[in-house]
This record gives sequence, structure tokens and C-alpha cells, in this order.
Amino acid sequence: MAEESPESFKVTPWAVEGKVDYERLRVLFGTSDLDEPLRERLRGLLGSPLHPLLERGIYFSHRDLPRVLTEYEKGNPFFLYSGRGPSGDLHLGHLLPFELCAYLQRRLNVDMWIQITDDEKFLFKRDLPLEESRRLGFENLADILAPGFDPKRTHVLFDTIAIRTLYPLALEVARRVTFSTARAVFGFTNENNIGSIFYTALQSAPAFLPSKQAGRPVPCLIPCGIDQDPHFRVTRDVAEPLGYPKPALLHNELLPSLLGEGKMSSSTDATDSAIFLTDKPEQVRRKVSKAFTGGRTTVEEQRRLGAVPEVCSVWSLWRSRFAPDPKEFAEITRTCRSGELLCGECKSRLVPRITKFLEEHHTAREKAKEWIQGTLVDGS
Ligand code: SF4
Repeated sequence: MAEESPESFKVTPWAVEGKVDYERLRVLFGTSDLDEPLRERLRGLLGSPLHPLLERGIYFSHRDLPRVLTEYEKGNPFFLYSGRGPSGDLHLGHLLPFELCAYLQRRLNVDMWIQITDDEKFLFKRDLPLEESRRLGFENLADILAPGFDPKRTHVLFDTIAIRTLYPLALEVARRVTFSTARAVFGFTNENNIGSIFYTALQSAPAFLPSKQAGRPVPCLIPCGIDQDPHFRVTRDVAEPLGYPKPALLHNELLPSLLGEGKMSSSTDATDSAIFLTDKPEQVRRKVSKAFTGGRTTVEEQRRLGAVPEVCSVWSLWRSRFAPDPKEFAEITRTCRSGELLCGECKSRLVPRITKFLEEHHTAREKAKEWIQGTLVDGS
């Protein structure tokens, strides 16, 4: 669904264009504000300070979060569900929901369900062979597991492998979703293949699977980019008629493109918009040095007027991951605004942080490969 504002940004599950006004988007999508009282409630459960993704408002919106928290407090823990459509390497933006999920799993000892939608990418990308989509799925899965999931509480639904488990539930969903709903939500036309129209039923199935297996309602929480919200509106609409609880959602802002507008993208014509988890130090240095900033045209002007962190792609990297210490992040923001920090120096400080993060990530992903097999549902 194309949700367009008068400010002319556009957000759909497949494309993000323009400078997104997230507050306006939240209103357009009809979601709830992840406000300070709710953050305070989360601090009570998760400890203070919260993960920077929650504390700094990168997760800014939700649907029904208080309901799953109440259930948790009553002793009925929720499970986490997130996923990935494998069409290429992951970039830093893709990792946000999984980093949050790993943190929530560690703090609350809850189960994590990950769906790898190799079928989706095969259906939506005409030039992608199924075997390649599966190969990418396993590569992506190693990256996804790297942030530190508990192997015993993590279950992977790799669509073409777990289809025996997923299909009966997908059928239940498919019978409840009309073509007219699918067309209204996803903008399908006569040119779409019939597999892509059915696909949303398969993406809904993991949200209900633990309830079906347990024979009682098990609450579900889905952390995801706000651009993925339309998929789960369909899931939420069919949940109660099928006898399952509506999944709750927790939405993050999208990491902005290093080129200025839109989000970090993995499409081949925009590879400089993103830092990929496979990037070499030289690529990181080159991309950061060219990145769009909130700086002024001259050094003199920046010293005098200060810069604007909120529009800067480099600042959004500090904010999301690379300045976990609240004091350091506050200092970067303050000196950016005051003009004491110049963009060149700021970028030079950031590059080694990213390089170190990627090095550690590569070690963690190789370790994760050792236990992938044990997480696969129907995999043996
Ligand atoms: Fe961005 Fe850093 Fe320049 Fe501020 S000083 S605008 S955070 S690059």
C-alpha cells in the first residue's frame, strides 16, 4: 500500500522514497506512539537504561504492545517473530529488528521464531532462481543469528523446508483473505503472478504457529521496520476470526540512505546507500567519507552556526549502534549542534567503530553457522 503524505514521502513494504516524517507516517498508518510512560514500563521489565534502539526512539511506534506486556506480567510470555526475504547481502539497517529481538530474548527469556522467505523472493524477483534464493537465505540466516540468540529458544522457519508445518496454517489464513483485500493492501495488479498473491498467507502463519502447537493463545510480538506494517495488518485482521491472539508490533524507523534520501537499500544500483555486513574496511571508509551529512557548506559556517544532526546519515549510525554509551552519544550530538565537531573528524571517528563491529560480527556469524541446522523446523 502506498501511504503518501502531502510532504511527498512514500513508504511501502517494497520502497521508501523521500525524507520520511515518522510522526506523520505513524498517524497515516494508525499506529500508537511508543511514548515515555510506555518506555518507563519497559524499563521496569528490561532494566534501565533500555537498549539504545528503544531508549533513543528508533523504535517509535507499536500496535498492542501493552497487551503483550500485561500477559507477560501475568505469566503468559509472548514469543518474538521476525523474518527476512533473502535477495542479497544484509546491511546494517536489516539487522535492527534482530538486534532488538536478541536483546529482548536475553532479558526476558522468550522464544524467537525467524522466518526465511526464500519462496517470497523467488516469486517477487523474476530473475532470482530458487536455488540462489535458498543459498542467500542460509547466508542471511548466519548474519541474523550472529547478534546472540539462544540456540535452545530459537526456531527457524525456512519456507521451502518448513512448508509441511506452515502450509495448514497458511491455508487457514488464505481462506479468510479475499483478493480484493490483498489488492488494496499490497497494490496487486493483473500482472502479478498467483504465487505472490498467496504469499501473504504464508507470512502470517508463524504468528499463529506457537498458539496452534500449544493448544492455547500464546501472545506474539513482531519487531519490524515500519515499512513492513501492511503485511501484518492482514495477519492481525484474520487472527481473532481464526481463534488466535492478534500479534503485537513494534516498529523501527528505517536507517536512512548514506546518499541522503530514502532508506539504506540493497538494490544493486544503490549499494553506496548502505553499509553491508560483508563490506571490507576500504569500502566502509569510502562510503562513510561520501555520506550525506547535516553539515554546512564551509568550515567557517559550521563553526558559527553548528550542524543539524537530525538530517545526517552519519549521526543516525552513531544513534543506532555505534555510540552505545549515552554520555558519548549526547556529547557527539551536542558538539555537532554547536559546531565544535566538524564532519570530517566525526566521520574519521566513526569508521574504526564500524570496522570493528563488522569484524566481531563476522566471527559471530561463523560461530552461528555451527548451530543453524539445529534451529530449522522440519529440517532433519
Ligand atoms: Fe553529521 Fe557528524 Fe557532521 Fe554532525 S558533525 S552533521 S553528526 S557528520
